[in-house]
Amino acid sequence: MATLILEGVLKDYSGSPQTAEATIKSRPLFHGCFFPLSTYSGEFGFDWMRDRNAYPGSKIHYAGISEDFSLLEAEYDVLDIPVENQEAKYYVPWLNMFPDNKSVTGKDVELFFRVNPCNGDGVYDFEDDDYVEFVSPGGNLKVTPDKVSGLDLYNGKSVKINCLKPLTANDYIEAVYRSKNLTTEGEVVGKINVLKNDITYFINIYVVKNYISDANETPETINSKIRSIGEINGIEDYLNKHSLNQALIQVKLYTQYDKKDLNWPIRLSTLQAASNGKNSNPTTDDVNKDYIFQQFFKGLLDSNNKVNQSKFLNYINFRFGNMFPAIGETQKCILLYLTSLDSISAGGTSSIFPTNNKHCIVYNPNLGHKATYAHEIGHILGLLHTFTIVDRDGKTVSHEDERKILLSSFQKKYGLYKSIEVNNLLDVTHRRFVEKYIKGLKRSKESDCNTVYDNNKIRFKKGLTDNVMDYSRKLLFFSKSQWKVMQTEVELYYGIKK
Ligand SMILES: [Zn+2]
Repeated sequence: MATLILEGVLKDYSGSPQTAEATIKSRPLFHGCFFPLSTYSGEFGFDWMRDRNAYPGSKIHYAGISEDFSLLEAEYDVLDIPVENQEAKYYVPWLNMFPDNKSVTGKDVELFFRVNPCNGDGVYDFEDDDYVEFVSPGGNLKVTPDKVSGLDLYNGKSVKINCLKPLTANDYIEAVYRSKNLTTEGEVVGKINVLKNDITYFINIYVVKNYISDANETPETINSKIRSIGEINGIEDYLNKHSLNQALIQVKLYTQYDKKDLNWPIRLSTLQAASNGKNSNPTTDDVNKDYIFQQFFKGLLDSNNKVNQSKFLNYINFRFGNMFPAIGETQKCILLYLTSLDSISAGGTSSIFPTNNKHCIVYNPNLGHKATYAHEIGHILGLLHTFTIVDRDGKTVSHEDERKILLSSFQKKYGLYKSIEVNNLLDVTHRRFVEKYIKGLKRSKESDCNTVYDNNKIRFKKGLTDNVMDYSRKLLFFSKSQWKVMQTEVELYYGIKK
């Protein structure tokens, strides 16, 4: 076998050592981790396995809180290098960024890089002039600085990542350890996968301000409640730079349509009548004039005038379709309602089913809470909550059982409404509403339910993650699988890609 001398070490052409001395190492005793800085506020997509073995000190440990770890594990490539705990693996994180992330979000993509020992005794064992170099084998990505050495390896160092051109295929960056004592030229000690980013997804969002006109409320009532978050521009900024951008989605918020303000004053007395199952503005003498009010809106308000979420969503579907048919029916868009009403049980509502539903609502208490907007739009874009639910006895309902329960409820409702004679509804707007409702149930039971559940299989215990679709204090990240689901729905129902 031919040999050559490389950096003073005798090697064969395949790179494996022929001689071994006590001071020569075949590989380093650490692995390198990339993770977001503490100042990260959603400016790019980053999805990594929260794992205490690989990231000592990590507050979140997915293995302990995920419903089915094998499903979660399958989301990440595994790099075959040792990690502290014998059973632990090196899961390669995913990065999703715009080609010029700073021009879109105002922030460079900046991550923290640090090495962690993996020999069990906490010793790193490297020389002062050893270093880790960041390499983009495809030449499309640049890390600055491109090397980290000495104490910075122990303490960690922030590094910036730039795309040199839009990525037309998934790419990666490797962290390669180099040392004159190493028997090989370099050893990969870390890696990031970077998703292709030559396509951006765009959505138009029409913002409807909904307020109670017989309580002296005006559009200003809504404006005053979103002032602390920068009003409409602040919400748009948050969606484009700190949340949906993680999935390469950009939105434009409109408060007007066809030069008319999208204001929706509503009379409490009208809502109260609807809640009593009464149509306060019948257009016909039809004996069925109250039908949809009885079936869909009765019980809309509780005794404190708080709204029942699903009934209010039905009511909005009904009323808005009549007020702005051009937006409601034909446009690819999302309709976001900011209402001064309170709901009985939630800060926001959006209906995931049918998957082409456009309406989402943010209620009074949450109007100044930015993350609610990303959370509700996440639902519209096909995302379920990341947490498992518990039944009345406190037992966890499995993902599969939850799907079955929902599916059977769609089937039951479909049977119920399918049997009504829609043609008996003389008021055309009533008939249209019921027809659309039945169509939605049909879609949901035939395909949407299965699709959505298949798309949202990864579940955790409630409140213990930092995912936007959890119920926790820190709603910050969308995951890689969520990026994909949202992009697919934008393309199908809500916007365009280019
Ligand atoms: Zn939710």
